[in-house]
Amino acid sequence: MDAIRAVFLDVGETIVDESREYGAWADWLGVPRHTFSAVLGAVIARGRDYRDTFQYFRPGFDLAGERRRRVAAGQPESWAEDALYPDARPCMEALRAMGLRVGLAGNQTKEAEAILRSLGLPVDAVGTSDAWGVEKPSPGFFARIVEEAGCGPSSVLYVGDRIDNDVGPAQRAGLETAFIRRGPWGYILRDAALEDGCLFRLTTLAELPELARKHNEAAGYDDRPERGLSRSSSSPR
Ligand SMILES: [Mg+2]
Repeated sequence: MDAIRAVFLDVGETIVDESREYGAWADWLGVPRHTFSAVLGAVIARGRDYRDTFQYFRPGFDLAGERRRRVAAGQPESWAEDALYPDARPCMEALRAMGLRVGLAGNQTKEAEAILRSLGLPVDAVGTSDAWGVEKPSPGFFARIVEEAGCGPSSVLYVGDRIDNDVGPAQRAGLETAFIRRGPWGYILRDAALEDGCLFRLTTLAELPELARKHNEAAGYDDRPERGLSRSSSSPR
C-alpha cells in the first residue's frame, strides 16, 4: 500500500455546487429550472453527454456561441466563492497541512480557470481541460495530473463525483480514487466494481483529511511536512 502524496480534486460538483450555473442556463433557454434539471437527469441516466440537454430543448444549440451571447447580454457564465461547497476549502487546507500536494483538475473552460485562480484557494496546482488541451475521460488528462503531482500514480488520489469520467479513467491510469456521491452524476451513475475499486467513498469532503491521514499512517507516512516519508520503521543501529 502506497501513501498518498498528492490529492487532485475535480471541480464541478466536487468542490463547486453547479445549481446556480444550470439554473442560469435554464433561464437563458426560457425553461423552468425544475424541468431543465429533470431532463438533465434523464440525459445522464441514458449515459449521454450533458450537453444533449440543451439540444433537447433547442435543437442545433451551439454552446460556445450561446456562451458568447450571454457575455454580450451581460449574463456571462460565472460563479464565485459562494458557489463552493462549504467543505471544499477546509478540506484543501487540511490536506495541505498534512504536507500533501493539492491540486484541482477538471473539464472546465479557461474562464472557469480564471475564477478558480481568483479565489485564492489553498492549492499547489490548477488544471483545466481548456488549458491542458485534453479532457476527461482521456488517459492523457490523468497522465498530466500525475506529471503535476510529481510522484507515481499510485501515490496520487483523484477525487470526483463522476463514476464514468473521474473514477473509471483515473483507476485505469493507475491513480487511487475517491468517489464523492453528490450532484446529479454522483446520484445517478453507479458501477459497483468501480466503486469497490475506490480507496474512499465520500458523501462530504469533510471526511477526506482524516481518511487520508489514517491511510498514510497505515502506509508508514509521516504527516509532518518537513519529514515526508518516515524512516522510523527501520530500527537504529
Ligand atoms: Mg464533476
